[in-house]
Amino acid sequence: MVKVIGVDAKFVLDSRKEKTISVSVKTNVGEFSASAPSGKSTGKHEVKPYKKNLSGDIETIKKFSEYFSEESLDKFDDLKRVEDIVEGHVGGNTIIALEYAILKAMAHEQKKEIWQLINTNLKKLPRLVGNCVGGGKHSELVKKPDFQEFLLIPNLKSVKENFEKNKTIKKEIERILERTDKKFEKKKNEENAWITSLNEKEILDILSKFKIPIGLDVAASSFFKRKKYDYKNPMLKRDSEEQFGYLCNLIKNFNLFYIEDPFGEEDFESFAKLLKKFPERLIVGDDLTVTSHKRLDKAIKMKSISGIIVKPNQCGSLLEVKKVCELAKEKKIKIIFSHRSGETDESILADLAFGFGADFFKCGIDGRERESKIKRLIEIEKSLKM
Ligand code: PEP
Ligand code: MG
Repeated sequence: MVKVIGVDAKFVLDSRKEKTISVSVKTNVGEFSASAPSGKSTGKHEVKPYKKNLSGDIETIKKFSEYFSEESLDKFDDLKRVEDIVEGHVGGNTIIALEYAILKAMAHEQKKEIWQLINTNLKKLPRLVGNCVGGGKHSELVKKPDFQEFLLIPNLKSVKENFEKNKTIKKEIERILERTDKKFEKKKNEENAWITSLNEKEILDILSKFKIPIGLDVAASSFFKRKKYDYKNPMLKRDSEEQFGYLCNLIKNFNLFYIEDPFGEEDFESFAKLLKKFPERLIVGDDLTVTSHKRLDKAIKMKSISGIIVKPNQCGSLLEVKKVCELAKEKKIKIIFSHRSGETDESILADLAFGFGADFFKCGIDGRERESKIKRLIEIEKSLKM
């Protein structure tokens, strides 16, 4: 039984060198802390990371220090009692970091791995989705691809092999960009993906040479302005119909396996049209569904998606994450657990992804903050073989 006898919080710097929250809990079995990441290309329907701001949440959560001492926390669903206490007082990032810290305490007390608090009879590990070239809101060049992420999704036997494969291909892409992009400076963006001045077709041309499944996070809401998709590279405005036609061409010509947020975050209909045309591809909601059970339900009813991104701090509740995963599983929607662009070293995402039976794990390719999670997943993989 875990008893939380004190709660503290502070800010830490994320991979963007911006402040995010770290929460620590003092318990009968020791002290545990965890941090939450922060997004930049955020969906309109995400919960707010902090009620007013980070320092406000730090002060507020400290005031709750003694509120939990009556609670005996034993299993995952007991987090509901924690949520009931803090909900409405702090934002999503703060709740998630607090819940992560409590899960760590529970796992420690029960001598279990964190994923075992969620599910013990799983064998399948999620497949890596690695961002190797980036544009959109995550890159700072003037001339850059309009799409946010160009993804490698190898399908080798193990997480470890897929991790190695992604790193090798990313290195080779560096050499190709040196030859093909005169403006290439070997710089990486906020998710550690290569920054380039090439456009999406030129990048897909390079990626498709590697003969592994590839994908896109279009993050279309980030360049949807006044009812048009406002492309800059090259300058071109596309209405929804034209965006649909363009994406159909890209999917066919480059045999895209995975397409995230191809349309604006309110456009369930266009998602559905694309999925109807390409029922065997992964049409994925991120800003569309924002890890919300209600929005997932709508996307299912409208047949908009075949995959959903799960980012715990989008909804700010691990109980909601559980509901989303259960509904997705029931309706055969693939689950993709995902990092945020501003990440910390926190690795608990790997435990959650495995515990909830995720099909994919989208967590970059390299860089300390991303690798800590992928390495944790490899550690879980190794432990299953023992
Ligand atoms: C994404 O859009 O998939 C993403 C990781 O972006 P962010 O974390 O900036 O919201
Ligand atoms: Mg996305």
